[in-house]
Amino acid sequence: MDPCVFCRIVQRVEPAFTVYEDKHVMAFLDNNPFSVGHTLVIPKRHFINMFDMDEDTLCEVIAVVHTLVKRYEKKMGMSGVDILNLNGSDGQQTVYHFHMHIIPRTKDDHLVPWIETIPRVKVDLRSVQTRLKED
Ligand SMILES: [Zn+2]
Repeated sequence: MDPCVFCRIVQRVEPAFTVYEDKHVMAFLDNNPFSVGHTLVIPKRHFINMFDMDEDTLCEVIAVVHTLVKRYEKKMGMSGVDILNLNGSDGQQTVYHFHMHIIPRTKDDHLVPWIETIPRVKVDLRSVQTRLKED
């Protein structure tokens, strides 16, 4: 049996509430949702995370995220959406098959505006820019 739960979902060994599927991408409802319609979008091919993923596959996944966001806006009347992607253990990734969360938001949902709760760091932006900018 494949050790990766998302690969098992792709192989239909593990059940999932699929909402989208094409040749390369699959989307299914998170079985422990933050909000109604919380969806995971994955490439069917196993990639651990963005660090080992090719750009074409990433583009296919994000295109499906966009399709579903537009669909959910129309069908669920959601007024906001959080797109979440975690990479690596230091990035708090827990399932090591690349996935993007679509977390529908509404005005009166129970979710904490989490991004506002993250403490900011003081950095020298010029030195960071110098280090990160392409040569
Ligand atoms: Zn996998």
